[in-house]
Amino acid sequence: MSERADIVVIGGGIMGLAIAYNLAKLGAGDIVVVDRNYLCGGASGRNGGGVRAQWSSEANVRLMQESIKMCREFAREMKINVWFRQGGYLFLTRDEEKRRALEKSVKVQNECGLATRMLTPKEAQKIVPELDVGSGTSAITAASFNADDGVVFPWPFVWGFARAAEKLGVRVLTFTDVVGFETKGKAITGVVVKKTATKTATETATLGKTETRTIRTSRVVNAAGAWSPEIARMLGVELPNTPHRHEICSTEPLKPWLGPLVADLTDGLYFSQSTRGEIVGGIGQERVPHGIDQNSSFAFLGIYARSLTRACPVLGNVKVLRQWAGCYDITPDANPIVGPVDDVAHFYQASGFMGHGFMMAPVVGKLIAQYIVEETPLPMFERWNLRRFKEGKLLSEAMIIG
Ligand SMILES: Cc1cc2nc3c(=O)[nH]c(=O)nc-3n(C[C@H](O)[C@H](O)[C@H](O)COP(=O)(O)OP(=O)(O)OC[C@H]3O[C@@H](n4cnc5c(N)ncnc54)[C@H](O)[C@@H]3O)c2cc1C
Repeated sequence: MSERADIVVIGGGIMGLAIAYNLAKLGAGDIVVVDRNYLCGGASGRNGGGVRAQWSSEANVRLMQESIKMCREFAREMKINVWFRQGGYLFLTRDEEKRRALEKSVKVQNECGLATRMLTPKEAQKIVPELDVGSGTSAITAASFNADDGVVFPWPFVWGFARAAEKLGVRVLTFTDVVGFETKGKAITGVVVKKTATKTATETATLGKTETRTIRTSRVVNAAGAWSPEIARMLGVELPNTPHRHEICSTEPLKPWLGPLVADLTDGLYFSQSTRGEIVGGIGQERVPHGIDQNSSFAFLGIYARSLTRACPVLGNVKVLRQWAGCYDITPDANPIVGPVDDVAHFYQASGFMGHGFMMAPVVGKLIAQYIVEETPLPMFERWNLRRFKEGKLLSEAMIIG
């Protein structure tokens, strides 16, 4: 059995769906999105929903200024409530090196027209009175605040893109695993897929679980997030990104008291209060080995609780109701891998978004779709091309959480 598509997007996370939606908007033909899981099964359904323009590089600041504007419009455009709340981001530092780096970032942000302010620990307490500024070597040394940053509820964001894409004719095939490709020289001629689950007993009886089929196409977008190296390897392309488990949890709901998302640049702690009142947060754990792992651990709860209660002792008695984990998609220079590759024609990458791909998807999805349709080189995508690793032109980004 075979079918045709003008473009196949692999991965029905936020990135794949944003790209597919924008491709359809541009009239790019028959678009098929394939995902081996349910929508929100990957990082896009497991993240903290943080959206911010506080970055250290001008490119990321400008990109996110645009993305925040798009987040504001999202509910109206997609007709779905994404619980976008702009309570700001409060970054904290606890050492001199990080303070100096933060100051540099804030300067870049101000030059881009962002109203971020550097704050003393006491000024930070005016924004979050429950914040303990600490003492001695672990005391907070400085903070930065931008009121435009905020949080969204990730699931409706994903569903919004999926539904809007489907309305424009995109076929979103869930429980459909990409298991291989058909090629001719440098060209892709088909994507081989296999159903991983069927919806009804009748479907199972008719199709069987092992049915494979080929979707005939010459253009493929690899938006498989932490799994993107597996997909690329099927075509002989080596990507340098590696998956890294990142854990997160949510507490019982509390009355609204916390305005911003608080992020500690020293140990990777972050937490915010959702519109439903829960405290949602996580922390970076460097000792976790690289590899796909979406399981939760007790160790995380201890590490997170210690850091959270150091920052806000009043949270000491709050009960955790749910914990989960997903994969960060880590690149060697903390910047994504976007655009075509040299060895396979029309094989576009859209991965390596670390712990910030959710917030970038609205704008990056639009730009990637434009790039594929118009084939006009974009300076940003030149910088983000896979080639940079071979050429040793690594980029940098200092404002990384977790
Ligand atoms: C705990 C946590 C907290 C985070 N917090 C934030 C945050 O606050 N703000 C932010 O912006 N970002 C955050 N992130 C990062 C963000 O979630 C990701 O960068 C983003 O969701 C990546 O989207 P994606 O579409 O590239 O990948 P994913 O959402 O992972 O989608 C990839 C999809 O590919 C599918 N797939 C894989 N292999 C195959 C195959 N062979 N065939 C078919 N389909 C396949 C998977 O099933 C998956 O659905 C966080 C991540 C985690 C884990």
